[in-house]
Amino acid sequence: MSRNSIEKIKKIFHQYISLRSLRARIFLIVLVVGIVPSIAMRYGIMRNYEERAVEQRTLTVQNQLNILADHLINEDYLNTRTSEVINAELDMLSNLYDGRVQVISGNLRVIKDTYGISEGKTIISEEVIKCFMGESLSNYDAQNGYIEMTIPIIDNQNSVEGVQATAAGNVIAGSVKQPDPRVKGVMLTSISTGYIADTLAVLSRKAMILETLMIMGIVTIALILSIILTRPFERVTKAINEVKAGYSNESISVPDLAETEHIVDAFNQLLQRMKVLDDSRQEFVANVSHELKTPLTSMKVLADSLLAQENVPAELYQEFMEDIVSEIDRENQIITDLLALVKMDKKVSALNIAVININDLTELILKRLRPIARKKDVEVVFESVRPVVAEVDEVKMTLIMSNLVENAIKYNKEHGWVKVVLDADHQYFTFEVSDSGIGIPEDCLAQIYERFYRVDKSHSREIGGTGLGLAITKSAVLMHRGSITVTSTEGEGSTFLVKIPLNYIAQ
Ligand code: ADP
Repeated sequence: MSRNSIEKIKKIFHQYISLRSLRARIFLIVLVVGIVPSIAMRYGIMRNYEERAVEQRTLTVQNQLNILADHLINEDYLNTRTSEVINAELDMLSNLYDGRVQVISGNLRVIKDTYGISEGKTIISEEVIKCFMGESLSNYDAQNGYIEMTIPIIDNQNSVEGVQATAAGNVIAGSVKQPDPRVKGVMLTSISTGYIADTLAVLSRKAMILETLMIMGIVTIALILSIILTRPFERVTKAINEVKAGYSNESISVPDLAETEHIVDAFNQLLQRMKVLDDSRQEFVANVSHELKTPLTSMKVLADSLLAQENVPAELYQEFMEDIVSEIDRENQIITDLLALVKMDKKVSALNIAVININDLTELILKRLRPIARKKDVEVVFESVRPVVAEVDEVKMTLIMSNLVENAIKYNKEHGWVKVVLDADHQYFTFEVSDSGIGIPEDCLAQIYERFYRVDKSHSREIGGTGLGLAITKSAVLMHRGSITVTSTEGEGSTFLVKIPLNYIAQ
């Protein structure tokens, strides 16, 4: 067995033991739910049987003893003690129930003991005294396996002659309760419950066999259930692993349980997102290659045409070289923009947040851009509604502002204007750039933030656009947890509105 599979088995075993495995939990639950009631049932049935058996036996013996007590009175056994019939009856009773009967007279003396041990002795036990008060008691001693009971020997005819004169009367006289004058004696009987214990043992053995069979059945059911119920999860894992390993790129489908379906749905959505990301990455790489190749191709064409001619006039060289330099500048610009974009894609922690005076920053940027505007005879106006100080990354904020103002100048008409308005409330500051330029067609508005997207490719190229400016701007705005919106009318102009929190909101 390989090291890997041993590790895997160890892991599964550990998951089972620590109950982290769903299969182990299901197994345990089914086992507990199945076994606990069966054990409780066995215990209940046995206890019930024992109670009923003891109760019945006590009743039967009590009845017989009551009949015997009548005989004792009729035969005046308490005084004569000679009746053979009574002696035989007493012996028979004790034999029948594997027990012992003691007849106790009014003076607490044992006048007959079927064991023949205690005759002539005096018994002053609580049960006997209580019995003289008319209470017949029974007590089951499960540990030693017998039932003890006391039956009063009642004489209903000669009840007037008090018992007070007797020893029992004297003992009772000390207590609160009065003795019953009709009670002439007591029969103290103990009978064996051995047969109940035997039956219980047989029952228990049978129940144990049944229970073992049941436990075996429950264990099997628990095992099967735990396997069946967790199988959909295994299928999901397998399907995900297949996607991971690259056998399949399609959405997975495991329609067993609602729960696994949720997992599968979430996974498919993730897969979809990854596909979109992958597509956009591929598209981006293709775009980058294309954009970087274009200036190179132009340069090659220019250089080739110079090389192909002999005695090229110096003016032509000069002209072609100027074209080549402008292509190099363009290539440079694309690479600079790409690098800026890549930096944006990095983690938010790359932000260098500081408290910046936004008014000053705007003034500085506009100062830098005014010469370009002047060339196109575009007037740049700045309106600061209130002083704004905010926590921003200065470099990225500069990128946002200069890209928007540059675009407003680039895509403007001759003698046009650009208006920059800076305002703030207690939470956000707004940076609004409006122009009197060419505007953006409505159906293009959604795409202008995409990398390399240009409304009019040739026009944008002509004026030095790379198609990356707004993508960079949007990334920088989002990094500051801000928003950017645009409204535009073709032929009339556009307005870009950037809204950024005054205090940087860390994630
Ligand atoms: P570029 O480098 O081409 O300017 P941007 O990402 O900055 O790239 O802008 C994308 C496109 O959006 C531009 O090519 C242009 O067509 C359009 N655009 C951006 N700003 C404006 C504006 N102020 N007026 C008109 N069109 C604009």
